[in-house]
Amino acid sequence: MLRAAASAAAAGALVAGCDPTRDQDPDAVRPPGGPGPSGAGHASPAPVRAARPPTRVPGQPVQIEHGPRNGRAVALTFHGRGDPRMANALLGEAERAGARVTVLAIGDWLDEQPAMARRILDGGHELGNHTLHHRDICALPAADAYAEITGCADRLRKLTGTIGSWFRPSQTRRATPLVTDLARKAGYPHVLSYDVDSLDANDPGAAAVQRTVLETVEPGSVVSLHLGHAGTVAALPPILDGLRRRGLRAVTTTELVT
Ligand SMILES: [Zn+2]
Repeated sequence: MLRAAASAAAAGALVAGCDPTRDQDPDAVRPPGGPGPSGAGHASPAPVRAARPPTRVPGQPVQIEHGPRNGRAVALTFHGRGDPRMANALLGEAERAGARVTVLAIGDWLDEQPAMARRILDGGHELGNHTLHHRDICALPAADAYAEITGCADRLRKLTGTIGSWFRPSQTRRATPLVTDLARKAGYPHVLSYDVDSLDANDPGAAAVQRTVLETVEPGSVVSLHLGHAGTVAALPPILDGLRRRGLRAVTTTELVT
């Protein structure tokens, strides 16, 4: 447990950069279905929830940017990487407020933090694929881009039994037609874009993240956010509060669009 904590601290120190030379602590690796995460506040085991396969929505475009504008729901979607303690804190805040989120996990993060896949699903949230290394996927040759998609899909399948509900391309808001085709070939009928950019990855502070989201969100919005940023963790409760005051609920992306 101490080693796991030390590893988590090391991962946290690297959270701001995309340093490819992170240490990989084999002790941190747990088999699927093994003990849950050791984060505070999760003393009793959560119920095991099945991972969803990729969502297919007849009538929706291949690239989805938002859900119905005439509903009362929005989807908060998170780039999945960074300090697992921050991820646990954020998921806990969402759960306390009765909200569900979507985490698009990066494959090399799942290699370091395999327990997070189960943690996300057991909280009732949705899990998806955000490539293996978070490279500029639209600039890669087809074979390399495909390997980025399938590399993360393989990890999700090993950890949860499915390749995840969604694929979101890395370092871009929209996928090129090539990347969309590669994602479909890998098993994802849709590519998940977004219509609200919180700009939280620039660490502008919790107040700015909150303001940006609440000033631009509409019914049906898919909001882009990032795990691993303290300002985002602090902004989540007031964002959920602001949504609630407008009669909007934060639901999984599948719930939003189906
Ligand atoms: Zn990302």
